[in-house]
Amino acid sequence: MLVARHGDLNSHGNGAIVAFVTTVFVNGMQISTLGDNSLADSQCGGDNPITHCNPKTTVGSLSVFAEGKGVHRIEDFRLCGAKTSTSSPNVFCG
Ligand SMILES: [Zn+2]
Repeated sequence: MLVARHGDLNSHGNGAIVAFVTTVFVNGMQISTLGDNSLADSQCGGDNPITHCNPKTTVGSLSVFAEGKGVHRIEDFRLCGAKTSTSSPNVFCG
């Protein structure tokens, strides 16, 4: 699947990833891994669950790692149930 990076968004709208990794880059951006924080997505606020306000990455590759954490990819889930919806256009991992 295509690799997610710092700033990639989720399927609820917005929710840009705040990448933790500082040594691995894809397309000139920090690669995203399991457990990365995120900015609030479009469902943050009101009576919605607070998980939309920091929809962390909750899935990573079981075979490709950066700084010891599984690489997060497009279509992988976030804490609030959204999926990461943007990614590198041309870098894949399993
Ligand atoms: Zn959400």
